[in-house]
Amino acid sequence: MKTIGVLALQGDYAKHVEMVSAAGALGREVREAGDLEKIDGLIIPGGESTTIGKLLVRFGMLEPIRIFAASGGPVFGTCAGTILLAKNIEGSDQVRLGLLDIEVRRNAYGRQIESFEADIPVPMLGEIPLLGVFIRAPIISKIDGRVDVLAVFDGTPVFVRQGNIISTTFHPELTGDPRAHKYFLSLVEGE
Ligand code: GLN
Repeated sequence: MKTIGVLALQGDYAKHVEMVSAAGALGREVREAGDLEKIDGLIIPGGESTTIGKLLVRFGMLEPIRIFAASGGPVFGTCAGTILLAKNIEGSDQVRLGLLDIEVRRNAYGRQIESFEADIPVPMLGEIPLLGVFIRAPIISKIDGRVDVLAVFDGTPVFVRQGNIISTTFHPELTGDPRAHKYFLSLVEGE
């Protein structure tokens, strides 16, 4: 059985661990660089991207995660995780991993109270749309030609892939539908 690590420094990592089990893999919390050696794929959860970025620096995990991804390790970012994966963050010099050739605009749909759910058609996952939960979500405002768009909502990409990295601006771990996590597991298994 594959082991999927969930970065557990801040944010809603516990729900991801549950979804990893529902998808048929073993979920494991990742709190230090050494944990990366024990996993086959890494999820970077939603939360507060500035806080997670600072903690990645404090615990010396920025470079080890970059190396994990560069050596082919699959990575799945959701919401704040997508912000941390982006090369460019509009108007911000906050710490990031910078592994995805996208630009993001943080909190682009408004404040917490403007959080919403929407049916997101993801052709690759079948006919039934995925329910996307957007919580102070970013918008992907620019993408590079190397990035594949797996789903669009309201005219902007909300689910993208670049090689071994996938990313959603919404939370796929909050709905009980494990299809996004199963897709990630298929990347891990196809490694
Ligand atoms: N607004 C948060 C940020 O900018 C992301 C919110 C989330 O992950 N749900 O980091």
